[in-house]
Amino acid sequence: SVTLENVCKRYGEVEVLRGLDLHIPAGQTVALIGPSGSGKSTLLRLLMTLERPDAGRILIDGESMWTERRGSREVPARPAHLRRVRGRIGMVFQHFNLFPHMTALRNVAEAPRHVLGLGRDEAEQRAREYLDMVGLGDKLDRYPANLSGGQKQRVGIARALAMRPEVMLFDEVTSALDPELVGGVLEIMRELSARRTMTMIVVTHQMKFAERSSDRTLFFDGGRIVEDGPSAQVFGHPARARTRQFLEAVI
Ligand code: ATP
Ligand code: MG
Repeated sequence: SVTLENVCKRYGEVEVLRGLDLHIPAGQTVALIGPSGSGKSTLLRLLMTLERPDAGRILIDGESMWTERRGSREVPARPAHLRRVRGRIGMVFQHFNLFPHMTALRNVAEAPRHVLGLGRDEAEQRAREYLDMVGLGDKLDRYPANLSGGQKQRVGIARALAMRPEVMLFDEVTSALDPELVGGVLEIMRELSARRTMTMIVVTHQMKFAERSSDRTLFFDGGRIVEDGPSAQVFGHPARARTRQFLEAVI
């Protein structure tokens, strides 16, 4: 599960997140929608520990990210604690960030081998398993330059999955793809969501995906959650005028 308690984040004068409270139970898929600059990516970067909140707490499965218990006291997290919590979260970015000098197989095997400490064979076997899952079992030896955008993004998903995270974050993973490649990537995400083995937070402009393939949709505006409900309800009967206005503009 993912819990935010009064999370605030500002960059200089700009308040990007204004006291977010949010609980996402394990196995739920949440779509995060909202206008540009509303703080969607900032929220994901906070969950990835790439940024630190100015106030409030973030808990992964009830465990605080930036503090840890020592005896009865709550003290600032040591690097080992932060690494451990961070290890439970995986992220896929808009731009694939693959290592250009490594094959698909090695791109996926790299972190299991060097971060989790698996042996070479075990790491490669695991990489094969996840590349198979995303439909790239026959492209193990391709370099990123010889893969399509959609295939690169599927390698990116396999790479995140190979770390077996409890929480997966997707930040506009189809935005850089040619339109005909979008469907295949969304289909994999839909299947992952249907398994309910991970908590998923999906920032997306793909409103059909949000509506049909997520359990719950959050509409963000100005660093606040304006609307939060079952996806069918948010899209079918948005409660807020601001949500209706946004959906009318983008659909
Ligand atoms: P988009 O849909 O365009 O990706 P977003 O909802 O993901 O938008 P964020 O990237 O979270 O928006 O940015 C929220 C606000 O924070 C924006 O006003 C942005 O300019 C600002 N911001 C983000 N990162 C930084 C940074 N490192 N330094 C200063 N300001 C930043
Ligand atoms: Mg963004």
